[in-house]
Amino acid sequence: MTYVVIVYMPIVSMKPVKQKKKMVGKALKKMVNGMIYVQSAKEIIMLTKMWKHFKTICKHKWYVFLECRKMGITWQGITHDLSKLRPCEFIPSAKYYTGTSSPVANERNAIGYSYAWRHHKGVNMHHWQWYIDPDGWDENGQVIINPAPMPDKYIKEMYCDMVGAAKAYGNGSAKDYYLKFQNEWVLHSETKEKFEKLLGV
Ligand SMILES: [Zn+2]
Repeated sequence: MTYVVIVYMPIVSMKPVKQKKKMVGKALKKMVNGMIYVQSAKEIIMLTKMWKHFKTICKHKWYVFLECRKMGITWQGITHDLSKLRPCEFIPSAKYYTGTSSPVANERNAIGYSYAWRHHKGVNMHHWQWYIDPDGWDENGQVIINPAPMPDKYIKEMYCDMVGAAKAYGNGSAKDYYLKFQNEWVLHSETKEKFEKLLGV
């Protein structure tokens, strides 16, 4: 009887510990696997967005290049929008890529401003925003913006950008786009005249 008790007790006391260890081990494994899985899924989603955004850039660049060639500014056609490939523009744009709306607009909607656009307009002279010069406020509290004239080669690139974008994204003509947003554009009078002549406005 004594013999049975001595042998039996350790078996009874060890069993739950072993089971517990096994359960904890399984739970840990499941948790680690789960974390790896979630991380990988996020990475796959981001990589897919990066690839799709890259393809969009290439498509847009190709149509702009064709227009630039027609306008005799081939080199600008090659270098157009290359800053979109820099990490400071590429990463936020890929993050907010949807395929149906502008990543810049999506970034603005999400955080109130766009880091990608802030850099883009600052280094690309084919955007009219490059030429605006805010200078204090008028008596009505409106910011005074003095637009500088754009060099002709950049007016041409801006035109090619709009025509190329319309062809790449198939969202109407460049002229229609300009007529829709012209009141929001701040152009120097000379720039406005030359640009509208190109568009046929
Ligand atoms: Zn651009």
